[in-house]
Amino acid sequence: MVAEQLRATGGVWLSFDGTNIWLDPGPGALVKALSSRPRLNPKTLDGVLLSHRHIDHCNDINVVIEAMTDGGFKKRGVVFAPADALGEDAVIFRYVREYVQEVQILTEKGRYELGSLKFEVPVRHHHPHETYGFNFYWRGHKISWVIDTKFFPELLKFYDGEVLVLHCVRYQAGDKPWIQHLNLNDVRTFLEALSPRLTILTHFGRTMLTAKPWVLAEALSQEFGLAVRAASDGWKLQLQEVFPEESEAA
Ligand SMILES: [Zn+2]
Repeated sequence: MVAEQLRATGGVWLSFDGTNIWLDPGPGALVKALSSRPRLNPKTLDGVLLSHRHIDHCNDINVVIEAMTDGGFKKRGVVFAPADALGEDAVIFRYVREYVQEVQILTEKGRYELGSLKFEVPVRHHHPHETYGFNFYWRGHKISWVIDTKFFPELLKFYDGEVLVLHCVRYQAGDKPWIQHLNLNDVRTFLEALSPRLTILTHFGRTMLTAKPWVLAEALSQEFGLAVRAASDGWKLQLQEVFPEESEAA
């Protein structure tokens, strides 16, 4: 999917009460940020968060770190990454790591803090290479972000946030069991078990795109009586829309 650029692969810019962190800056991340309106300025980043070393998640991480640190002239920011993104055949160059204030290694059950942002890494995913998802905490609310993984039942226990983000790569279930990604049937399992306040589907593969993710999301909303939305390129979600009780303090 990277080469075809059917969807932007720049990852996600997260902003929690003044703390900015870039999750998985994949191919084209920097160009996308600089051309977005309003423009996302990497110099305002507080950190970069990498879930795993697959190229669609990390391709631009070195240039984003360079931009965050003004080409290495300003030592600032924190990089969070799994150990296997930093060891042999590292995807984050050693000299670039010198530019940041700190590199923190993600480990299963780890808890992390960056400015006003708190997050945890509940479990190692079933996916090639060391891969983690995240539970972000915002004003007492939990936002669960299930990065690439094959489904396994413990996911339901760990990712029970009020907002649930699922990387739903595949449309069909069971036809290619060796592919370690969630499919639409797995999404149903999550919805049935957890009834999140909002579920966001993203990171679609070809079969999902062909099936029109926004149509599938609407059908799931109807089927479960829950809010299910398909993310699209450049899409922006204000958490206050999901938690209107928080909008006054924003
Ligand atoms: Zn992956």
